[in-house]
Amino acid sequence: LIEVKKLQKNYGENEVLKQIDGVVKPGQVICVIGPSGSGKSTFLRCLNLLEKPTGGEILFEGHDTMSFSEAELTTMRERMGMVFQSFNLFPNLTVLENLKLAPMRVKHMAEDDAAKKALTLLKRVGLAEKADVYPSSLSGGQQQRVAIARALAMDPEVLLFDEPTSALDPEMVGEVLAVMKELAEDGMTMVVVTHEMGFAREVGDEVWFMADGYILEKNEPNALFNHPQNERAQDFISKII
Ligand code: ATP
Ligand code: MG
Repeated sequence: LIEVKKLQKNYGENEVLKQIDGVVKPGQVICVIGPSGSGKSTFLRCLNLLEKPTGGEILFEGHDTMSFSEAELTTMRERMGMVFQSFNLFPNLTVLENLKLAPMRVKHMAEDDAAKKALTLLKRVGLAEKADVYPSSLSGGQQQRVAIARALAMDPEVLLFDEPTSALDPEMVGEVLAVMKELAEDGMTMVVVTHEMGFAREVGDEVWFMADGYILEKNEPNALFNHPQNERAQDFISKII
């Protein structure tokens, strides 16, 4: 679905991504871990071209995204949902309105259909009864579940998560991870930057350890967590487990 080849990203002199290679297959859950500042968020933003890579290639469904026109880029971004650490809901819109907005504006869906779809998605994340409230009256965990439902409202091909639970109080982390786990079981392709090693172990098909601008190690979760080969990975994992 996504193929990354020799991806490079510099901010001025700062070479954040030096050479990143990887393949995300349909239905896979890729968990990306690594120290703070190692470029995990930059990598995700490059994947949907929110950031323009300095070098290398990103193929989306076999098409070279570097040669995409603005219109093609917009279409591609619609097909990649993104969920951030800070939920980014529109505070002046109700939960239902948050979910209806993009399908109506971007896909020109009729309001009735958008509302129906929104309610189905809210049920899926366990928040049907919150349709008409404003985001500020929800807990962090509930807001993040709404943010996931909102991303799903565009029927994305893949969901990108950037530390979706790291801004949450501990008691709310579980409910968000449970929703993500269900999505994974339903076959959603996901790239998840996370420090939740339990989730990565249980749900991840592969874990990518990122540091110093490279993916230094890539493996299925148990092998990577139990027997990391790379020294930096060993050091990082010994500190977080
Ligand atoms: P964290 O775990 O703290 O979220 P991260 O792995 O997501 O870290 P990034 O946010 O991708 O790391 O940042 C990697 C490096 O790129 C940092 O040195 C950061 O200062 C730099 N950087 C990120 N975004 C920009 C930007 N828009 N302009 C300039 N430098 C940036
Ligand atoms: Mg980050």
